[in-house]
Amino acid sequence: MNLNKTLSLIVISAMALAISSCGKQPPQSTIASGKTMGTFYRVQVVGGYKEGEQSLQSDCDKEFKKITDAISTFDKDAELALVDADFTTDPIVISPYLADIIKRCREQSDRIDYAMDISVGPLVNLWGFGPSKRNSVTPSDDEIKKAMALTGPDAYQIYEKDGAYYLQKKDPAVKLDLSTVGEGLGADAVAKTLDENKVQNYLASVAGASRSKGTNPKGDPWRIGIEDPTNPDHNVYQAVCPLGMAMSTAGSYRNYFKDAKTGRIFSHAIDPKTGRPVDHSTLSVTVIAKTAFETDALDTGLLVLGADRALKVANQDNLAIFTIEMKQGKPYARYSKAFSPYLKCADKINAKLEESL
Ligand code: ADP
Ligand code: MG
Repeated sequence: MNLNKTLSLIVISAMALAISSCGKQPPQSTIASGKTMGTFYRVQVVGGYKEGEQSLQSDCDKEFKKITDAISTFDKDAELALVDADFTTDPIVISPYLADIIKRCREQSDRIDYAMDISVGPLVNLWGFGPSKRNSVTPSDDEIKKAMALTGPDAYQIYEKDGAYYLQKKDPAVKLDLSTVGEGLGADAVAKTLDENKVQNYLASVAGASRSKGTNPKGDPWRIGIEDPTNPDHNVYQAVCPLGMAMSTAGSYRNYFKDAKTGRIFSHAIDPKTGRPVDHSTLSVTVIAKTAFETDALDTGLLVLGADRALKVANQDNLAIFTIEMKQGKPYARYSKAFSPYLKCADKINAKLEESL
């Protein structure tokens, strides 16, 4: 959800479509595509939609605008950008919509030991991934310590009083960052609109987050590709059938910060416990769950935890995740028990992929 957004996830969506539509493309799809949240979206409805492509496009754009008007930190007039800029520890009135997103993020953070923490704003800025100017110098230990003092579960409070919602910062410089859930919120909002319009078969992707229902134009289950993070050509590493569930992937391998002096590369996933970008061999984490909000809220945090801890949490929590690590120069995949059904359905494609490796 920022302008430096990793391209990989766009390509995952594009691959999803390539896989889902391989062979003859029946003509009867309605497609909307474009840019939102600094990244790309594509929505494919099998069959017609209201007055056609333009109405699909405008319905999607309306949904995305509602989200970015609330949570963008790049648009300085967005509600969250204004809250972040409000240099105060007085309670700030926020909309019920924004309050709800923040509360739901905290619920997801709780599941993964706050490895996803929306108070990382000051750290995101410090490392050059936020709305502040992009850095090309590694921050000093002192700068990191100062930014970390502004983050954590107690950095802000959110409460309701007499029917209004308030956010109160513990320090006026606290900044929230909801970028990590933007794409998921976008995919869910489109899915809700399509469901309300009684669309039975669709695939809606916002960068690496997707929602799908029913079947593709050929009448087969939708299939989505998880990209090989070690391959510059964005090859599909594994095909997955989401089976009506939401899916998203967080990757540490494309959107990064490069120290101009040392050439060292830092991922845009920041570990709130160290104040630094993750520096381990886990390259991507894919999550499947009921909503894209949930998958998107969890994927970056699980990536921060690294495959070992992420798989442990997932198996305890019956969560479907698929991890790719770099092992001896090669991609190495593992998945939680709950992920099996989504792979099984794509067995044939995966056998072909293996042959081609
Ligand atoms: P990905 O698709 O790789 O998950 P996202 O755009 O969903 O990428 O999330 C990455 C963004 O989330 C970063 O650019 C940053 O703004 C923010 N972020 C980074 N680390 C964390 C974290 N530990 N918790 C919450 N947000 C984070
Ligand atoms: Mg995410």
